[in-house]
Amino acid sequence: MRVQVPFMDLGAMTRQVRRDVDIAWEAMLGTGDFVGGAAVERFEEQWARYCGTHAAVGVANGTDAITLTLRALGIGPGDEVVVPANTFVATVEGIVLSGARPRFADVDPDTLLLTADGLAAAITPRTCAVIVVHLYGQPANLDALGSVAARAGLVLIEDAAQAHGAAWMGRRTGSFGRAGCFSFYPGKNLGAFGDAGAVVTSDPVLARTLRSLRNHGRQSASHYLHINVGTNSRLDTIQAAVLSAKLLRLDGWTASRRAIVARYRKALERSPVRFVATAPGAEHVHHLAVSLFPDRDRAAASFARLGVATAVHYPIPCHLLEPYSQFADGRLPIAEAAASQVLSLPLFPHMTEPQIQQVCNALGEVATEAVVTGG
Ligand SMILES: *Cc1c(COP(=O)(O)O)cnc(C)c1O
Repeated sequence: MRVQVPFMDLGAMTRQVRRDVDIAWEAMLGTGDFVGGAAVERFEEQWARYCGTHAAVGVANGTDAITLTLRALGIGPGDEVVVPANTFVATVEGIVLSGARPRFADVDPDTLLLTADGLAAAITPRTCAVIVVHLYGQPANLDALGSVAARAGLVLIEDAAQAHGAAWMGRRTGSFGRAGCFSFYPGKNLGAFGDAGAVVTSDPVLARTLRSLRNHGRQSASHYLHINVGTNSRLDTIQAAVLSAKLLRLDGWTASRRAIVARYRKALERSPVRFVATAPGAEHVHHLAVSLFPDRDRAAASFARLGVATAVHYPIPCHLLEPYSQFADGRLPIAEAAASQVLSLPLFPHMTEPQIQQVCNALGEVATEAVVTGG
């Protein structure tokens, strides 16, 4: 029987944590803490421990996590920050909002992630940082990138907004760089019931500055003393409680994502159609299941006909988007070619067996069509 497979459906996940969240909601109404408070501190401790860092600072969203990290490190006007062209626009937005200039780098043709060569090629005397993006849930090669960054004296910042719990050589993302930036937008692997984000770091000065910047530049423990030009980027109490409830289940959900992707790969076993590769050393958490089709738009239409919703991450590389093309410096052939081929398949931890089966059947059919027609 054919079912309609949505790209994402968070209903079952929400039901799984609903009781915990109801209890937290009642408690919150009792305490009168709506922004910050004990629930936020508790989640920050849990998230830092999970990532393997000394501190986590909750903020309003992932974009603020990036912008405020750069600002807290004193990176801004006159500075350049390297960023892969193949990322969600928010990574680049964070750089521009800090006042710095993005330097776009090309990516690896198999993983579509930033490479050491891509980073090295983008560095100029004004470059002072790199934002490594663990796109689709896969950590980039942090050893190779870390040594290029160290040699060039760059601060390494991780954008782990798609990589909650992913690891490189056994160590969790967010713990390699000076800071790791996370989004807890509802559709991320760990998602709130609204917008939320965090920065993890083991640098106590950075953590303290971030706590000030997110709260109108206040000095810690002071209400009236504003020591920085900050902003309002505080984490809501209820969102922290939702995140604590979901964190208990995150590893199980990641295991389920991995099992589903293994089924998809098996369905493509005897086909030349590729998935974005997983590098040795990377523990992928599969935020997205990204395949590569020579004629992507046609493949997407075929999946739609077969009742399978798909999406594209991302159809236009950031250096070709109008507000950011002023920062581009030549072609980035791999990112540009990938943009016309990437196709994301439905993936969420609570997919049902008929839904998974239907995607696998559709994959077989669309892959055959792509081979037969040479596109
Ligand atoms: C989602 C995302 C962000 C931004 O997070 P928001 O919470 O939506 O601001 C940044 N970088 C990447 C790679 C993302 O996927």
